[in-house]
Amino acid sequence: MTNAKPKRNRAIVIGGSLGGLFAGNMLKKAGWDVDIYERSAHDLDSRGGGVVLQPDVVEVFREAGVDIGAMSLGVPSKNRVVYRKDGSIQDKRPAPQMQTSWPLIYSTMKETFGDAHYHRGRVLTSIEQDEDAKTVTAIFEDGSRETGDLLVGADGNGSTVRQLIWPDAKPAYAGYLAWRGLIPENDLTPAARDGLLGDFGFSNTTGSHILGYLVPGENNTTDPGKRFYNWVWYRVADDETLAKIMTDKDGKQRGYSMPEGKLSADWKAHVYREADALLPAPFREAVHSTQEPFAQAIRDLTVPSMVNGRVILLGDAAFVPRPHTAASTSKAAANALALYDALARTPEDVDAALERWEPGQMMLGNMLYRQGTQAGDSLLFRKDMSERVG
Ligand SMILES: Cc1cc2nc3c(=O)[nH]c(=O)nc-3n(C[C@H](O)[C@H](O)[C@H](O)COP(=O)(O)OP(=O)(O)OC[C@H]3O[C@@H](n4cnc5c(N)ncnc54)[C@H](O)[C@@H]3O)c2cc1C
Repeated sequence: MTNAKPKRNRAIVIGGSLGGLFAGNMLKKAGWDVDIYERSAHDLDSRGGGVVLQPDVVEVFREAGVDIGAMSLGVPSKNRVVYRKDGSIQDKRPAPQMQTSWPLIYSTMKETFGDAHYHRGRVLTSIEQDEDAKTVTAIFEDGSRETGDLLVGADGNGSTVRQLIWPDAKPAYAGYLAWRGLIPENDLTPAARDGLLGDFGFSNTTGSHILGYLVPGENNTTDPGKRFYNWVWYRVADDETLAKIMTDKDGKQRGYSMPEGKLSADWKAHVYREADALLPAPFREAVHSTQEPFAQAIRDLTVPSMVNGRVILLGDAAFVPRPHTAASTSKAAANALALYDALARTPEDVDAALERWEPGQMMLGNMLYRQGTQAGDSLLFRKDMSERVG
């Protein structure tokens, strides 16, 4: 009589950013062998971009075993403050919440997952499924192959997994972009510090919507004086203008995202000019204090389904909600938590678990899509559009 151990399920996760790490950590907790394959050959980096901390992210931290009592999860804000264009306060009300940063979530989840099964510099190029054996094989650019019981497409809004299996689902430009800035809080003018720090600030005019808040600084510190101020300024821009903005200072076309340090001098000057014309004093000064503004086009993405055999999509690979929902990261976390729950209920029947997992995640993605498009279109496109970029 043999005493063979039951075979452990193996997951192949494509994409080692937040969605891949949330899924990787939760699948490990479910007792799976997990390998994460990330295209980038280096550690991912975003120098501290802001993320509103939502309960699902804290829940993944907790479930994955992070000692959240021993760390500072972010920077709290007290009030929501709306400024008029002349700098007077239109509305101020208590709305305590916590803002964190992309690097804090990434470094925490990456450390928890560990290095042994996190593989850098591996670019997925195709997928093969064996429906009888219930296996799926990932094929990489270097010709290597990895076979498992489940392939998780956590490869972001340009997802190769989605392009291979759901080729008709593509992101669509929403008609506006976000100018963004991230600066050490002490680089703000004293007046901007007085007006902005400690609260979640906003200012809206037609075709222009800016918001800002404090986030952790270098090495995830939340010490006063060492944090970053993160501002995001939405502006309407047609396709032609967007293409010009996304041509970087070396003439390279960047598509939908312009990294820090690459914006052309003309567009940088444009950002400062527009700040003078459209923004109340605290935000105007914050924008002027930012030496390297960057930009991101706002795009919508939905998918008709999230499961195909033993391939699933999660995070931005499946749905990209508008940033007004502050939900991209928490949706990726919610997808991973629900996957854990579904697999834990029927560990012997992966197909049944995926069947149970999908409807709730589709509902969540579609609900955030509707909320985000309504909020964004009403903020940016109401009344006349005379104040568009360009
Ligand atoms: C470097 C970086 C910095 C970011 N900074 C911020 C921020 O400051 N604020 C914010 O709100 N959001 C930020 N985001 C986006 C944020 O992570 C997502 O909106 C959200 O958390 C969902 O994450 P995701 O893992 O589904 O998608 P993404 O974060 O887009 O990750 C997708 C990952 O898949 C990898 N990948 C893509 N194609 C392949 C392939 N063929 N093979 C293998 N790997 C592949 C990519 O390199 C990437 O790491 C950032 C994303 C990245 C990659």
